[in-house]
Amino acid sequence: MTCPTAQPTDLSHVQPRDKAEILAQALPYIRRYHGKTMVIKYGGNAMTDPALQQAFAEDVVLLKLVGINPVVVHGGGPQIETLLQRLGKKGHFIQGMRVTDAETMEVVEWVLAGEVQQDIVGLINQAGGKAVGLTGRDGAMIRAQKLQLSDQQDPNVKHDVGQVGDIVSIDPSVVKALQDDQFIPVVSPIGFGEKNESYNINADVVAAKLATVLQAEKLLMLTNIRGVLDKAGQLLTELTPRRIDELCEDGTISGGMIPKIAGALDAAKSGVNAVHIIDGRVPHALLLEVLGDQPFGTMIKSH
Ligand code: ADP
Ligand code: MG
Repeated sequence: MTCPTAQPTDLSHVQPRDKAEILAQALPYIRRYHGKTMVIKYGGNAMTDPALQQAFAEDVVLLKLVGINPVVVHGGGPQIETLLQRLGKKGHFIQGMRVTDAETMEVVEWVLAGEVQQDIVGLINQAGGKAVGLTGRDGAMIRAQKLQLSDQQDPNVKHDVGQVGDIVSIDPSVVKALQDDQFIPVVSPIGFGEKNESYNINADVVAAKLATVLQAEKLLMLTNIRGVLDKAGQLLTELTPRRIDELCEDGTISGGMIPKIAGALDAAKSGVNAVHIIDGRVPHALLLEVLGDQPFGTMIKSH
Protein backbone atom coordinates (compact mmCIF):
# COMPACT_ATOMS: atom_id res chain seq x y z
CA MET A 1 0.00 0.00 0.00
CA THR A 2 1.31 3.46 -0.85
CA CYS A 3 0.30 6.73 0.72
CA PRO A 4 0.69 10.31 -0.42
CA THR A 5 3.83 12.11 0.69
CA ALA A 6 3.11 14.13 3.80
CA GLN A 7 3.26 17.87 3.33
CA PRO A 8 3.90 20.19 6.27
CA THR A 9 0.64 21.96 7.17
CA ASP A 10 0.61 25.68 6.36
CA LEU A 11 -0.24 27.47 9.61
CA SER A 12 0.47 31.03 8.45
CA HIS A 13 -3.24 31.89 8.66
CA VAL A 14 -3.50 30.83 12.34
CA GLN A 15 -3.55 33.82 14.68
CA PRO A 16 -0.81 33.95 17.34
CA ARG A 17 -3.56 34.03 19.99
CA ASP A 18 -4.98 30.76 18.69
CA LYS A 19 -1.52 29.22 18.58
CA ALA A 20 -1.01 30.18 22.23
CA GLU A 21 -4.41 28.70 23.12
CA ILE A 22 -3.57 25.44 21.37
CA LEU A 23 -0.28 25.20 23.25
CA ALA A 24 -1.99 25.97 26.56
CA GLN A 25 -4.44 23.11 25.94
CA ALA A 26 -1.51 20.70 25.93
CA LEU A 27 -0.62 21.66 29.51
CA PRO A 28 -2.77 19.05 31.33
CA TYR A 29 -1.22 16.29 29.22
CA ILE A 30 2.30 17.59 29.73
CA ARG A 31 1.67 17.73 33.46
CA ARG A 32 0.24 14.22 33.51
CA TYR A 33 3.13 12.69 31.58
CA HIS A 34 6.02 14.73 33.00
CA GLY A 35 8.79 12.38 34.14
CA LYS A 36 7.03 9.32 32.66
CA THR A 37 8.52 6.94 30.10
CA MET A 38 6.95 6.34 26.70
CA VAL A 39 8.15 3.53 24.49
CA ILE A 40 7.61 4.25 20.83
CA LYS A 41 7.77 1.56 18.16
CA TYR A 42 8.79 3.33 14.98
CA GLY A 43 8.02 1.47 11.80
CA GLY A 44 6.15 1.41 8.54
CA ASN A 45 5.86 4.38 6.22
CA ALA A 46 6.64 6.89 8.96
CA MET A 47 10.16 5.54 8.68
CA THR A 48 10.62 5.91 4.94
CA ASP A 49 8.90 9.18 4.00
CA PRO A 50 11.28 12.16 4.56
CA ALA A 51 8.57 14.62 5.69
CA LEU A 52 7.15 12.06 8.12
CA GLN A 53 10.64 11.22 9.38
CA GLN A 54 11.25 14.84 10.22
CA ALA A 55 7.88 15.27 11.91
CA PHE A 56 8.58 12.13 13.96
CA ALA A 57 12.01 13.39 15.07
CA GLU A 58 10.53 16.76 16.03
CA ASP A 59 7.83 15.07 18.09
CA VAL A 60 10.35 12.91 19.95
CA VAL A 61 12.51 15.94 20.76
CA LEU A 62 9.51 17.98 21.85
CA LEU A 63 8.36 15.21 24.20
CA LYS A 64 11.85 15.04 25.71
CA LEU A 65 12.02 18.82 26.16
CA VAL A 66 8.71 18.92 28.05
CA GLY A 67 10.04 16.33 30.50
CA ILE A 68 8.70 13.08 29.06
CA ASN A 69 11.17 10.23 28.44
CA PRO A 70 10.73 8.79 24.95
CA VAL A 71 12.48 5.52 24.16
CA VAL A 72 12.44 4.60 20.47
CA VAL A 73 12.48 0.99 19.23
CA HIS A 74 12.69 0.77 15.47
CA GLY A 75 11.83 -1.82 12.87
CA GLY A 76 13.24 -1.99 9.38
CA GLY A 77 11.41 -4.60 7.33
CA PRO A 78 11.36 -2.64 4.06
CA GLN A 79 15.03 -1.66 4.37
CA ILE A 80 16.06 -5.28 5.09
CA GLU A 81 13.97 -6.42 2.12
CA THR A 82 15.68 -3.91 -0.20
CA LEU A 83 19.19 -5.06 0.71
CA LEU A 84 18.24 -8.76 0.56
CA GLN A 85 16.88 -8.19 -2.95
CA ARG A 86 20.08 -6.44 -3.99
CA LEU A 87 21.96 -9.50 -2.76
CA GLY A 88 19.59 -11.75 -4.70
CA LYS A 89 17.92 -13.24 -1.61
CA LYS A 90 14.20 -13.48 -1.16
CA GLY A 91 12.60 -12.74 2.22
CA HIS A 92 10.24 -15.38 3.57
CA PHE A 93 7.76 -15.01 6.45
CA ILE A 94 5.88 -17.42 8.70
CA GLN A 95 3.10 -15.86 10.82
CA GLY A 96 4.67 -12.41 10.48
CA MET A 97 8.18 -13.58 11.46
CA ARG A 98 11.06 -13.27 9.01
CA VAL A 99 12.79 -16.61 8.45
CA THR A 100 16.40 -15.73 9.29
CA ASP A 101 19.30 -17.92 8.08
CA ALA A 102 22.90 -16.96 8.97
CA GLU A 103 23.36 -14.78 5.89
CA THR A 104 20.03 -13.03 6.44
CA MET A 105 21.06 -12.41 10.06
CA GLU A 106 24.19 -10.60 8.85
CA VAL A 107 22.08 -8.43 6.59
CA VAL A 108 19.60 -7.74 9.42
CA GLU A 109 22.44 -6.54 11.67
CA TRP A 110 23.99 -4.34 8.97
CA VAL A 111 20.70 -2.76 8.08
CA LEU A 112 19.18 -2.32 11.54
CA ALA A 113 22.20 -1.45 13.67
CA GLY A 114 24.26 0.15 10.91
CA GLU A 115 21.95 2.04 8.65
CA VAL A 116 18.46 2.44 10.05
CA GLN A 117 19.38 3.10 13.68
CA GLN A 118 22.03 5.66 12.76
CA ASP A 119 19.65 7.42 10.38
CA ILE A 120 17.13 7.82 13.20
CA VAL A 121 19.83 8.99 15.61
CA GLY A 122 20.88 11.60 13.03
CA LEU A 123 17.31 12.79 12.45
CA ILE A 124 16.64 13.24 16.17
CA ASN A 125 19.94 15.05 16.65
CA GLN A 126 19.16 17.36 13.74
CA ALA A 127 15.85 18.19 15.36
CA GLY A 128 17.76 19.30 18.45
CA GLY A 129 17.82 16.15 20.59
CA LYS A 130 20.66 13.93 21.77
CA ALA A 131 19.94 10.41 20.58
CA VAL A 132 22.07 7.36 21.34
CA GLY A 133 21.78 4.18 19.27
CA LEU A 134 21.86 0.80 21.00
CA THR A 135 21.37 -2.81 20.05
CA GLY A 136 20.33 -5.41 22.58
CA ARG A 137 24.00 -6.25 23.00
CA ASP A 138 24.80 -2.80 24.41
CA GLY A 139 24.71 -2.80 28.17
CA ALA A 140 23.86 -6.53 27.95
CA MET A 141 20.28 -5.36 27.48
CA ILE A 142 18.41 -8.04 25.50
CA ARG A 143 19.14 -11.72 26.18
CA ALA A 144 17.50 -14.01 23.67
CA GLN A 145 17.17 -17.63 22.60
CA LYS A 146 15.97 -19.32 19.45
CA LEU A 147 12.24 -18.85 19.01
CA GLN A 148 10.07 -21.97 18.94
CA LEU A 149 7.22 -20.68 16.82
CA SER A 150 3.98 -22.56 17.44
CA ASP A 151 1.55 -22.86 14.56
CA GLN A 152 -1.35 -20.45 14.90
CA GLN A 153 -3.92 -23.16 14.18
CA ASP A 154 -2.20 -26.19 15.73
CA PRO A 155 0.10 -25.32 18.68
CA ASN A 156 1.69 -28.79 18.52
CA VAL A 157 3.25 -27.90 15.17
CA LYS A 158 6.48 -25.83 15.48
CA HIS A 159 8.01 -23.74 12.71
CA ASP A 160 11.77 -23.27 12.33
CA VAL A 161 12.36 -19.61 11.57
CA GLY A 162 16.16 -19.71 11.98
CA GLN A 163 17.89 -17.03 14.04
CA VAL A 164 14.70 -15.36 15.14
CA GLY A 165 14.93 -14.65 18.83
CA ASP A 166 12.61 -15.04 21.73
CA ILE A 167 13.39 -12.61 24.54
CA VAL A 168 14.77 -14.32 27.66
CA SER A 169 15.18 -11.11 29.65
CA ILE A 170 15.68 -7.40 29.23
CA ASP A 171 17.96 -5.45 31.54
CA PRO A 172 16.90 -1.83 30.98
CA SER A 173 19.67 -0.24 33.08
CA VAL A 174 21.52 1.20 30.07
CA VAL A 175 18.29 2.80 28.81
CA LYS A 176 17.54 4.23 32.25
CA ALA A 177 21.05 5.65 32.60
CA LEU A 178 20.75 7.37 29.23
CA GLN A 179 17.30 8.79 29.72
CA ASP A 180 18.15 10.16 33.16
CA ASP A 181 20.99 11.98 31.46
CA GLN A 182 18.96 13.81 28.81
CA PHE A 183 19.68 11.30 26.05
CA ILE A 184 17.07 9.67 23.85
CA PRO A 185 17.73 5.91 23.46
CA VAL A 186 17.13 4.43 20.00
CA VAL A 187 17.05 0.63 20.22
CA SER A 188 17.57 -1.84 17.36
CA PRO A 189 15.72 -5.14 17.92
CA ILE A 190 18.74 -7.44 18.05
CA GLY A 191 19.33 -9.76 20.98
CA PHE A 192 22.22 -11.97 21.96
CA GLY A 193 22.33 -15.57 23.13
CA GLU A 194 24.43 -17.62 25.57
CA LYS A 195 27.24 -18.02 23.04
CA ASN A 196 27.02 -14.36 22.03
CA GLU A 197 25.15 -15.35 18.87
CA SER A 198 22.84 -12.71 17.41
CA TYR A 199 19.08 -12.94 17.18
CA ASN A 200 16.67 -11.03 15.01
CA ILE A 201 13.70 -10.13 17.18
CA ASN A 202 10.46 -8.61 15.95
CA ALA A 203 10.63 -4.92 16.90
CA ASP A 204 7.04 -4.93 18.20
CA VAL A 205 7.96 -7.68 20.64
CA VAL A 206 11.03 -5.76 21.84
CA ALA A 207 9.08 -2.51 22.22
CA ALA A 208 6.37 -4.25 24.22
CA LYS A 209 8.77 -6.03 26.58
CA LEU A 210 10.90 -2.93 27.04
CA ALA A 211 7.77 -0.92 27.91
CA THR A 212 6.93 -3.55 30.53
CA VAL A 213 10.36 -3.70 32.17
CA LEU A 214 10.66 0.11 32.14
CA GLN A 215 7.15 0.32 33.66
CA ALA A 216 6.36 2.79 30.90
CA GLU A 217 3.27 4.93 31.05
CA LYS A 218 2.56 4.41 27.37
CA LEU A 219 3.47 2.12 24.52
CA LEU A 220 2.82 3.65 21.11
CA MET A 221 3.20 1.53 18.00
CA LEU A 222 3.39 3.56 14.80
CA THR A 223 2.44 1.51 11.79
CA ASN A 224 1.48 1.79 8.13
CA ILE A 225 -2.27 1.44 8.61
CA ARG A 226 -4.98 3.29 10.58
CA GLY A 227 -4.91 0.77 13.41
CA VAL A 228 -6.43 -2.69 13.76
CA LEU A 229 -9.23 -3.19 11.23
CA ASP A 230 -12.16 -5.59 11.33
CA LYS A 231 -13.18 -7.92 8.49
CA ALA A 232 -15.02 -5.08 6.75
CA GLY A 233 -11.98 -2.80 6.94
CA GLN A 234 -13.44 -0.61 9.70
CA LEU A 235 -11.12 0.78 12.36
CA LEU A 236 -11.47 -0.88 15.77
CA THR A 237 -10.85 1.89 18.30
CA GLU A 238 -10.72 -0.42 21.34
CA LEU A 239 -9.80 -4.06 21.69
CA THR A 240 -10.21 -6.42 24.64
CA PRO A 241 -8.24 -9.69 25.03
CA ARG A 242 -11.35 -11.70 24.13
CA ARG A 243 -11.98 -9.75 20.91
CA ILE A 244 -8.30 -10.09 19.98
CA ASP A 245 -8.56 -13.88 20.38
CA GLU A 246 -11.57 -13.95 18.07
CA LEU A 247 -9.91 -11.75 15.44
CA CYS A 248 -6.77 -13.93 15.46
CA GLU A 249 -8.74 -17.15 15.32
CA ASP A 250 -10.88 -16.11 12.35
CA GLY A 251 -7.82 -14.75 10.50
CA THR A 252 -8.87 -11.07 10.57
CA ILE A 253 -5.57 -10.31 12.28
CA SER A 254 -2.73 -11.74 10.21
CA GLY A 255 0.88 -11.17 9.11
CA GLY A 256 2.78 -8.37 10.85
CA MET A 257 -0.28 -7.51 12.94
CA ILE A 258 0.07 -10.81 14.86
CA PRO A 259 3.30 -10.03 16.77
CA LYS A 260 2.16 -6.41 17.13
CA ILE A 261 -1.14 -7.22 18.79
CA ALA A 262 0.43 -9.99 20.91
CA GLY A 263 3.09 -7.57 22.18
CA ALA A 264 0.56 -4.82 22.74
CA LEU A 265 -1.67 -7.13 24.77
CA ASP A 266 1.25 -8.46 26.85
CA ALA A 267 2.29 -4.89 27.69
CA ALA A 268 -1.27 -3.87 28.60
CA LYS A 269 -1.66 -6.93 30.86
CA SER A 270 1.73 -6.29 32.48
CA GLY A 271 0.85 -2.84 33.72
CA VAL A 272 1.67 -0.44 30.87
CA ASN A 273 -1.13 2.07 31.36
CA ALA A 274 -1.94 2.94 27.78
CA VAL A 275 -1.14 0.88 24.70
CA HIS A 276 -2.05 2.24 21.26
CA ILE A 277 -1.48 1.13 17.68
CA ILE A 278 -1.52 4.33 15.63
CA ASP A 279 -1.21 5.49 12.05
CA GLY A 280 2.39 6.53 11.39
CA ARG A 281 1.34 7.98 8.01
CA VAL A 282 -0.29 10.93 9.78
CA PRO A 283 2.20 13.78 10.28
CA HIS A 284 2.94 14.32 14.00
CA ALA A 285 1.06 11.13 14.92
CA LEU A 286 2.98 11.03 18.20
CA LEU A 287 1.98 14.50 19.36
CA LEU A 288 -1.58 13.88 18.26
CA GLU A 289 -1.79 10.83 20.48
CA VAL A 290 0.11 12.16 23.48
CA LEU A 291 -1.05 15.78 23.62
CA GLY A 292 -4.32 15.63 21.70
CA ASP A 293 -7.78 14.96 23.09
CA GLN A 294 -9.18 12.94 20.18
CA PRO A 295 -8.99 9.13 20.30
CA PHE A 296 -6.66 7.96 17.58
CA GLY A 297 -5.89 4.47 16.27
CA THR A 298 -6.59 1.32 18.28
CA MET A 299 -6.31 1.17 22.05
CA ILE A 300 -5.49 -2.23 23.53
CA LYS A 301 -7.17 -2.93 26.85
CA SER A 302 -5.92 -5.37 29.48
CA HIS A 303 -9.35 -6.87 30.23
P1 ADP B 1 5.09 -2.51 10.95
O1 ADP B 1 6.20 -1.86 10.23
O2 ADP B 1 4.17 -1.50 11.58
O3 ADP B 1 5.52 -3.56 11.94
P2 ADP B 1 3.78 -4.75 9.56
O4 ADP B 1 3.66 -4.89 8.08
O5 ADP B 1 4.66 -5.68 10.27
O6 ADP B 1 4.20 -3.21 9.81
O7 ADP B 1 2.33 -4.85 10.23
C1 ADP B 1 1.26 -4.04 9.78
C2 ADP B 1 0.43 -4.77 8.71
O8 ADP B 1 -0.38 -5.78 9.29
C3 ADP B 1 -0.57 -3.92 7.98
O9 ADP B 1 -0.02 -3.13 6.96
C4 ADP B 1 -1.56 -4.96 7.43
O10 ADP B 1 -1.17 -5.36 6.13
C5 ADP B 1 -1.35 -6.16 8.33
N1 ADP B 1 -2.59 -6.57 8.99
C6 ADP B 1 -3.00 -7.86 9.11
N2 ADP B 1 -4.17 -7.94 9.73
C7 ADP B 1 -4.57 -6.67 10.02
C8 ADP B 1 -5.73 -6.09 10.66
N3 ADP B 1 -6.74 -6.84 11.12
N4 ADP B 1 -5.78 -4.75 10.77
C9 ADP B 1 -4.79 -3.98 10.31
N5 ADP B 1 -3.67 -4.46 9.69
C10 ADP B 1 -3.55 -5.79 9.55
MG1 MG C 1 6.11 -5.54 11.70
